[in-house]
Amino acid sequence: MAATPEKPAPATPRRKPGRHRGEGQWARGHFTPLNGNEQFKKDDDGLNVRTRIETIYSKAGFDSIDPNDLRGRMRWWGLYTQRRPGIDGGKTAVLEPEELDDEFFMLRVRIDGGRLTTRQLRVIGEISQEFARGTADITDRQNIQYHWIRIEDVPEIWRRLEEVGLSTTEACGDTPRVIIGSPVAGIAEDEIVDGTPAVEEIHRRIIGNKDFSNLPRKFKSAISGSPLLDVAHEINDVAFVGVEHPEHGPGFDLWVGGGLSTNPKIGVRLGAWVPLDEVPDVFTGVISIFRDYGYRRLRNRARLKFLVADWGAEKFRQVLEDEYLKRELVDGPAPAQPVQQWRDHVGVHRQKDGRFYVGFAPRVGRVDGATLTKIAEVAEAHGSGRVRTTVEQKMIVLDVEEAQVPSLVAALESLDLRVNPSPFRRGTMACTGIEFCKLAIVETKARGSSLIDELERRLPDFDEPITINLNGCPNACARIQVADIGLKGQLVLDDEGRQVEGYQVHLGGALGLEAGFGRKVRGLKVTSAELPDYIERVLARYQAEREDGERFAT
Ligand code: SF4
Repeated sequence: MAATPEKPAPATPRRKPGRHRGEGQWARGHFTPLNGNEQFKKDDDGLNVRTRIETIYSKAGFDSIDPNDLRGRMRWWGLYTQRRPGIDGGKTAVLEPEELDDEFFMLRVRIDGGRLTTRQLRVIGEISQEFARGTADITDRQNIQYHWIRIEDVPEIWRRLEEVGLSTTEACGDTPRVIIGSPVAGIAEDEIVDGTPAVEEIHRRIIGNKDFSNLPRKFKSAISGSPLLDVAHEINDVAFVGVEHPEHGPGFDLWVGGGLSTNPKIGVRLGAWVPLDEVPDVFTGVISIFRDYGYRRLRNRARLKFLVADWGAEKFRQVLEDEYLKRELVDGPAPAQPVQQWRDHVGVHRQKDGRFYVGFAPRVGRVDGATLTKIAEVAEAHGSGRVRTTVEQKMIVLDVEEAQVPSLVAALESLDLRVNPSPFRRGTMACTGIEFCKLAIVETKARGSSLIDELERRLPDFDEPITINLNGCPNACARIQVADIGLKGQLVLDDEGRQVEGYQVHLGGALGLEAGFGRKVRGLKVTSAELPDYIERVLARYQAEREDGERFAT
């Protein structure tokens, strides 16, 4: 699961004249909870559930868990009930939450900046093998997720993670989620500015701080000083993107209000340049605006993107400056167009210190605990103590001497971790899907994996950058709206009129300075069985008809 799933929202009720209670904005004095989520957050801070997990639930078992903790506050510690096995996608929308709940959990480990030591990676792998039936998926927000977690084991898992400086704090819930960072921060030769000190300071100030643990909804953030724009900044609530200011030098361009899900919006630039040491203050200002002015009445209007859309960039910047920073921001330039389309850092690249980093592609983010442990061993055997995760469900080994690179590449490839992947292996992402996700309608991970095999076999000469993203439902955990080919899972009719698993097709989405959402191809739905044929036809035609320099999205 790459992002916290959300059940398709009910239609917005009509307001009755004279009975409008506002949007639940605290800054306007609306403190009365206007829905069940706001009520349980007011009743008790989500962070407080940890004590109950440690002292009651882990000892008395699953059935002892208070429903408001089970389907609410436990998310503040990265815990989400997983889908009971054997329930088909047609039942997702009709069953009650408790009928979908398994007694096992998904547990998300937050990896801010995607930065891990090999020791941390080894511990993550060991926990997976001991407590999670070997599961460990790399998400598209640099996290790692386990499945099959028992509540009884959670305190011990936390102890082991925290012993090596990792945590699951606010990995889900209406909280400041993982702070995405450039996976090559501090090492890339072409880096404009290293955002790592800002990631660390924001984490220290904000994560686990009860001033920011009751937000209207989730709050997603990204910081990158890479000219490759490698953190999907366009679809975060706040993002800091590396730019060179003509007078002030390297710093960050400030973006707010991006987000996907069922009402996608590309973030907007505020036209402000922020130096590295001021990023934590500006971050704090933006998240405070969200907390104070964010809409809390309807869950499907509670993301920052709706406030930004209503206010516009100018007013948002004004409020940020006047009420929160108490000073004006410096105007600044927009980031430049990246020189290459792939942003995942896959392959072998020279670092600024002369050593090399090696990026590799598992299949649709699916690894396992044993493989993660082997990656740690292989990295260490080649002189590295650091790895990174990317927002494309990929990984990178850092700090490798040139002489060690060929051997490292061979070792990774022998684990089916491709350093030189096909465009299909490289560009295909998939969300969790029906295997574990309670909101899913269709299978995604296995489908994505078999699709890669099929396309590699059918189109061996295809060598253009291409992104194929699969979602298991109308949510956007695998970013379907900004993929070249976005596939939204739903039930469709086959040739004989039977309801089967399939996908609504979106074509031509993109991130980058030409960011935009894929067009829903009217009426175009493919069954899962037809998927390889359909994509083969689309790509073969693109290959045959494209003009020089023409991208799929154009
Ligand atoms: Fe997200 Fe996929 Fe689950 Fe839908 S099925 S909520 S897109 S993880």
